[in-house]
Amino acid sequence: METKDIIIIGGGAAGLMASCAAAHVLKKRGSVLVLEGNAKLGRKLLATGNGRCNLTNLNVSPAHYHGDVTAIQDLLHEYTPEAICAVFREMGLVTKSDSEGRVYPQNQQAAAVLSALRWDAEKYGVSFSEEHTVSKIEKVKNGFTLICTDGTQLFTKQCILTCGGAASPRHSCGEGYTLAKQLGHTVTKLYPSLTQLTVRAKQWKTLSGTRALANAVLLADGKPVYKESGEVQFTDTGISGICVFGLSVYAGEFFALGTIRNKKYASLAVQLDLLPDMAYQDVLDYLLEMTKLYPARAAGDLLSGLLNMRLGYMLVGAAGIVQSEPAVKIKALQLKKLASLLKGWRLDITGTKDFSAAQVTAGGVPLTELDPHTMASKKAPGLYLAGEMLNIHGDCGGYNLHFAWASGITAGKSAAYRCLKEEKR
Ligand SMILES: Cc1cc2nc3c(=O)[nH]c(=O)nc-3n(C[C@H](O)[C@H](O)[C@H](O)COP(=O)(O)OP(=O)(O)OC[C@H]3O[C@@H](n4cnc5c(N)ncnc54)[C@H](O)[C@@H]3O)c2cc1C
Repeated sequence: METKDIIIIGGGAAGLMASCAAAHVLKKRGSVLVLEGNAKLGRKLLATGNGRCNLTNLNVSPAHYHGDVTAIQDLLHEYTPEAICAVFREMGLVTKSDSEGRVYPQNQQAAAVLSALRWDAEKYGVSFSEEHTVSKIEKVKNGFTLICTDGTQLFTKQCILTCGGAASPRHSCGEGYTLAKQLGHTVTKLYPSLTQLTVRAKQWKTLSGTRALANAVLLADGKPVYKESGEVQFTDTGISGICVFGLSVYAGEFFALGTIRNKKYASLAVQLDLLPDMAYQDVLDYLLEMTKLYPARAAGDLLSGLLNMRLGYMLVGAAGIVQSEPAVKIKALQLKKLASLLKGWRLDITGTKDFSAAQVTAGGVPLTELDPHTMASKKAPGLYLAGEMLNIHGDCGGYNLHFAWASGITAGKSAAYRCLKEEKR
């Protein structure tokens, strides 16, 4: 049976970074192998940030994470965004941030991040084995035996699990949670995060493909619990876009657990202010002005100078106005209703999209089952875990990859130091 000092299961963001960190410590004094189930390493990494890879955020802090956050405070303190950028710079990758603190590779290509990791790992002697999905792992004396779906068996002294989560399964193979459970770990309830919200509304499909810049408020039992601003994209079944992804962190918790920040609620809605730069009275004055300026114009066209026209028709209808009747016939009360809708359109939220449309998994292996300073398992000595398979998920904006890098480096270094220590015995 082939034997290695360190085997990393999962060649994604956390696994590749762990392999580099381990190899730097070992300086070719031990063998490091990355097993990846997909035909190519880093498939999800290539899809990140719309192919540009938003690899960290200058605003990284515990406030941008959810799950077992207290456990990762020291990790975030040690691996600041600047520290992560410096790690990539040493690999030759220059990074650049935008006005919101989101950091991308200078050339705006995710492929550059993957290449940097791969070149660094190879330079330090890491080997890779693609199309090898591990289906079974067993703790044995002084290490672990691994069995792949094609029957390949391997032995490793240290093992790092970086199998990712349940989100976006088209980019990621396998079921890392099963491997963690085989070694005595538990997994909390999993649910999709950073995803679209589905909406209950009549004739919604007519809006598909439209966009609006809005202030969005998440209402739980009618009370505001979270706010975001930005572009809202209207889809066949609901709303999407970076701003909505922010709301989905809490909506996901509500639909999976019935809570938001651990407090129970019964209903969820989103309220959109579609004209954030105008006060209610200015909107009403504008509508009155338009009815006077163009009394014969169809009521449905009333908002064409303000909003996407399809969105305008929808709201005119929702205000109880017949779209085809002349603007002059619109009653004062209807205009007020329309102005109120423009400043606070309330949408009943029926759910989030499933894992196939989500960017991230909420839930995972609890951090209480690890030493968060080394990412070492408390269940199986010699085992380390990192990345999305843990019970940590971040906001949209580079926070999830940041955690994958920081936890991957820690797991890789710790496994390598254990390897050197074992050798001296
Ligand atoms: C479309 C999209 C865009 C995103 N954009 C961003 C972004 O711009 N910024 C950001 O911070 N986050 C982004 N994310 C989230 C981010 O990609 C993940 O949080 C991150 O990749 C997690 O890293 P990981 O190494 O834990 O898991 P992954 O990157 O998913 O890697 C896990 C790897 O393990 C392999 N694997 C699984 N099981 C086995 C097994 N049994 N045997 C062998 N191999 C196995 C998988 O095939 C996979 O390659 C995005 C996610 C998606 C889906």
